[in-house]
This record gives sequence, structure tokens and C-alpha cells, in this order.
Amino acid sequence: MRALVVEDEKRLAETVRDLLRLDGYLVDISYDGESGLDNALSGIYDVCVLDIMLPKLDGFEVLRRLRREGSGLPVLLLTARSDLADRVRGLDSGADYYLAKPFEPKELLACIRALTRRQPEIRETDVIAYGDLELNKNGFLLRCGGREIRLSRKEYGLMELLMLNRERVLDKETMLLKVWGYESDAEENSVEVYISFLRRKLAHLRSGVRIKTIRMAGYCLEKTPE
Ligand code: CA
Repeated sequence: MRALVVEDEKRLAETVRDLLRLDGYLVDISYDGESGLDNALSGIYDVCVLDIMLPKLDGFEVLRRLRREGSGLPVLLLTARSDLADRVRGLDSGADYYLAKPFEPKELLACIRALTRRQPEIRETDVIAYGDLELNKNGFLLRCGGREIRLSRKEYGLMELLMLNRERVLDKETMLLKVWGYESDAEENSVEVYISFLRRKLAHLRSGVRIKTIRMAGYCLEKTPE
């Protein structure tokens, strides 16, 4: 899962990033409200840690605009202020949770876990099912009937994304950002290459699930009739 940290204090931002990384999240940092809002609106994040006192746009404003654009991204507001008025204002602007600095690392991680669990498409188990397929996070195993095959980390990331989105079409850019991340210099043809690896593995498993190419749009899964 991918987390966005919007915090202008470099050391704190990096501390939060390191904590979340230890917990298995891929993390990006924005150092001001404007770029934070742009990133948050990209749709590639599963959760956002947002500071209130930020240059360019403050956290309340980022949150207000985010919700105005219809984004349901879970947001944890992080701030030095802990008085009731701010807390109420934060929650009114659409924050999901409020954490006052200084905080305990455990407390932050517990909040983040609670927020990411609430999303309906994220299963609590490590197994995702679609059609005749089962994808298991442990060991990155893809199963079909009695057959199974191990996926590489990138293959797993792409397959997980496709299976969680079911028949929804995913464009290459989203797949690239979600699986490879912002810092990567991978290009859209990396997605094509990995999709072809996955197709070969699906054929090997003799699965009825196909990865369909939607011209000019991207990819989605499809169940083919027996
Ligand atoms: Ca700040």
C-alpha cells in the first residue's frame, strides 16, 4: 500500500516515512500544501498523513479541496495543536483521524492501520480471489485449481492491483505509479512487459481469467466462459 506524507518539517517527514516503511508501506513526501494536494488527488495513495501548518496551502485547505474534488482518501491530520477547536475544525473539513504531536510511533502506526483497513476493497486476509484465481500475499503465490505459480514482486503488485479493481480499467500511468512509484524511472513499456509475463503465467495455470487490453485506455481483468 502507498502512503503520502505532507509535512514541511523535513526531519519529522522522514521519521514518519521511515516508520511507515517499516510497516510495509511505500511512502512519498510532499513538503508543501500545494504539491501535497496535487499528489493526494492523483488517486494512487491508500492513506495520507497531513500536517496543518504548511507553506502555500494549510492542511485544512488541502483537506477541504481534496473532499471538494470528491476524494475519499483516508486522511490522518498531524499537528502540534491539540486544542478542541482545531480538532473539531479538522474533523469538519473531512479528516478521518487527528493525532497531536508529539506522538508515539505505535500510536501513528495504529491510526494508519485503522484507516487503511476501513477501505472496503482492502481485504483483511492475505488472499484475494477473482474468478478461478487466488492470489496469496504470503510467498506471492498465484493459484488456480490445484496449480500454483510464484510471482515476482512487480508481477505480484500488478496482479494485486488488477484483482482489487476487478473489471475496472486501469491505465498504464496509474499502474506504473502504484507498482513502481514516483521515484522510479521505469516507463510505461515496463507495464507492458510485466503484463506479458503475467499473461504467460495465467496461461500456464490454465486460468479462465484474462488480462484484457483496452485500446488507448489500459488493462482490466476478464473472466472468460469455460
Ligand atoms: Ca508544519
